[in-house]
Amino acid sequence: MKHSLKELPISLKMPLLYTASIIPKNLLESKEYQEFRNFLSISESWDSNHIEEFQSKQLQLLVKHAYENVLFYKETFDAYGINVGDIKDKRDLKRLPLIDKKIVQENREKFIAKNFNYKKLTPINTGGTTSSPLHFFNTKTTNNREVAFFDRIWEKYGYNGQRCLVMRGNIVNDDKLFQYNPFRKHILINTRNFNVNNFDGILEVIERYNPPYIQAYPSLIYLFSKYINGKGLSRKVGNFKAIFCSSEKMYQFQRDEIIEAFGVNVIDYYGHNERLALMEYCPKCQLYHVIPEYGIVEFLNNKRKSENKEEHLSEIVGTGFNNYAFPLIRYKTSDMVTLAGENLQCKSGGLYSSVKEIDGRSGDFIVTVRGEYYSPTVVSFAFDYIKNFNDMQLIQKSYSHIDLLIVPNEFFNISEGHLAIKELKNILGSDININLKLVDQIDKPLNSKHRFIVSNIH
Ligand SMILES: [Zn+2]
Repeated sequence: MKHSLKELPISLKMPLLYTASIIPKNLLESKEYQEFRNFLSISESWDSNHIEEFQSKQLQLLVKHAYENVLFYKETFDAYGINVGDIKDKRDLKRLPLIDKKIVQENREKFIAKNFNYKKLTPINTGGTTSSPLHFFNTKTTNNREVAFFDRIWEKYGYNGQRCLVMRGNIVNDDKLFQYNPFRKHILINTRNFNVNNFDGILEVIERYNPPYIQAYPSLIYLFSKYINGKGLSRKVGNFKAIFCSSEKMYQFQRDEIIEAFGVNVIDYYGHNERLALMEYCPKCQLYHVIPEYGIVEFLNNKRKSENKEEHLSEIVGTGFNNYAFPLIRYKTSDMVTLAGENLQCKSGGLYSSVKEIDGRSGDFIVTVRGEYYSPTVVSFAFDYIKNFNDMQLIQKSYSHIDLLIVPNEFFNISEGHLAIKELKNILGSDININLKLVDQIDKPLNSKHRFIVSNIH
């Protein structure tokens, strides 16, 4: 779900970085980045009144700018009879209409602010198999601030440029197991060779470089952790301080396995290409806290039935503060969450609206013919029955048909699969057909992101 400059595919990044490795780090950090990073150090200790005041001021500036410079908002606000001066805080924000991907796609040119030079903007293309790509733009400021937000999160766990093992979608175009980037001190594992046969090799790389940090896709570090725990090496590998995960939904069973393997905090965050909302996982509260300097986040109660009637799924609606070139106000992200509470007191201090679970995108939900939506979180309980596997995926083909794909390991017993199917039917209803398929591998998209649950119904 999260992309930042740091995470460009290696093929795009390497030529630049080799040049950069001879330039001292402080010269690369722009003044704008520095100023914003300083601001974030100060705002971190603000009380809730101060934060609210900041958000209101940012909202007023954004709405005024949008009305004066962005044709879409000028037309929409006029049509709705909205007086920009009346939008003073997040309560007033609710008077503005919601927008979504379709509206932005159909009116793309009208969203570009006229006081920005079109040629200097960065085009962003959101990929994905379930919907057509959405092109929009951001600016250098958006990127500088993004890096500053992430640096603040990482620094909390002691990171200041030490070595980091990277298990993300990095493809190195040869058979090497890894590549070391001396500038960033990144040890990039070649995901083309990421499989159980090379895990001993990765253990050797850890011993050789002794990196204190890992950044990873949850699915990759999870499989590696399972291997470590299976070999009886739990908490005996490396000297790690923290593990940062992003880009995919993190399941509790993955977090548990990773913590068992490494015994350190596993931090993940919620973000998206549009950069309107950012949440960070807090290990003390075991919740995701909304980062208030990033934008205003609203949670829209969705009519879809949640699997647990007492918990309601809500959709994240974002209004970002950091992109004036292509401002998105009240944008429906189609990402679903289970709320923990508004203004929840964090155990490390500060009031946050907080999220218990990031349930995923609509394409990750199993849908029944009765119109019930089952989040990956709940469906994943069925995976508990399967212990001996190398990889797994649930694919919903139609309302009545699901394939459960398992890449078995040598200890796999077919009864594990049958128990999982029985549990899935308990959750989803017995009128759904579930086929067990043992496969050699799970096909992944080029960037190696992994989804445990894929639904082709929308
Ligand atoms: Zn907390």
